[in-house]
Amino acid sequence: MNESLLERFVPSIDLIFHLAAAVGVRHILGDPLAAINTNVRGTEAVLDLAFRYWKRTLIASTSEIYGKASHVPFREDDDRVLGSTAVPRWSYSMSKAIDEHFAFAYAAKGLPVSIVRYFNSYGPRLDERGYGSVVANLARQALRGEPITVHGDGEQSRCFTYISDTIAGTLLAGEAAGAVGQAFNIGNPKETSILELARTIKRLTRSKSPIEFIPYEAYYGVGFEDTRRRVPAVDKAKRLLGFTPRIDLEAGLKKTLAWCREHYRH
Ligand code: UDP
Repeated sequence: MNESLLERFVPSIDLIFHLAAAVGVRHILGDPLAAINTNVRGTEAVLDLAFRYWKRTLIASTSEIYGKASHVPFREDDDRVLGSTAVPRWSYSMSKAIDEHFAFAYAAKGLPVSIVRYFNSYGPRLDERGYGSVVANLARQALRGEPITVHGDGEQSRCFTYISDTIAGTLLAGEAAGAVGQAFNIGNPKETSILELARTIKRLTRSKSPIEFIPYEAYYGVGFEDTRRRVPAVDKAKRLLGFTPRIDLEAGLKKTLAWCREHYRH
């Protein structure tokens, strides 16, 4: 984090969209300390300046906030269900929850702040190395003809949200008058299992790669806990922001895979 750079820019801007963060379960497990520091200290610094110069601010948060809650769809004011602090995965959820608490605390002091919780956003420019999200991983494997790795039984599900929908929701929450002091799920409510995702990517890339089931431990190490289902309730975002996700998985994957085909090393 570069505080002097923040200090230089914040006074002259109208709106703050704070998206910088440590993201991705693999990253968090690789260096939990760096992830906690990045997420907590970064947001603390941004909100401190936003308060000092009185700037409307949007804080990007995550569906990981809900942890392993089993009751779907997740509503913005639902309880959070997390595992033990000895399981590093949950430090990501905790660090982003601290960010949200900061944001709500500043909102209580009158600062116009809003929060968005993203649900498995994907699209062109997905980093094949960095974040390591499932769409990037499976796309790379399919395009290279390597085995497509599905963790566990592949029946765990996510709601994949195309990037243009994520951006639209972010802009609405950052600017709409009714968004102030509120948190919103920004996601596509259509649920897809990871096995289904693997089959779709294989079909769309016409890949000969086999789909291979691998145990979670082989990828994340022992003691890993996954979220079985993760589905957003989007009625609040629709009601207060007019947010409606528009791009379905098939259309979004086609655009994403076309980009990956050009940019990933084969
Ligand atoms: N996953 C998978 N194969 C991979 C990478 C991920 O089966 O090569 C699974 C992962 O175990 C999880 C889901 O895909 O169940 C989504 O993982 P991701 O890291 O993209 O995001 P998460 O929703 O877990 O934050």
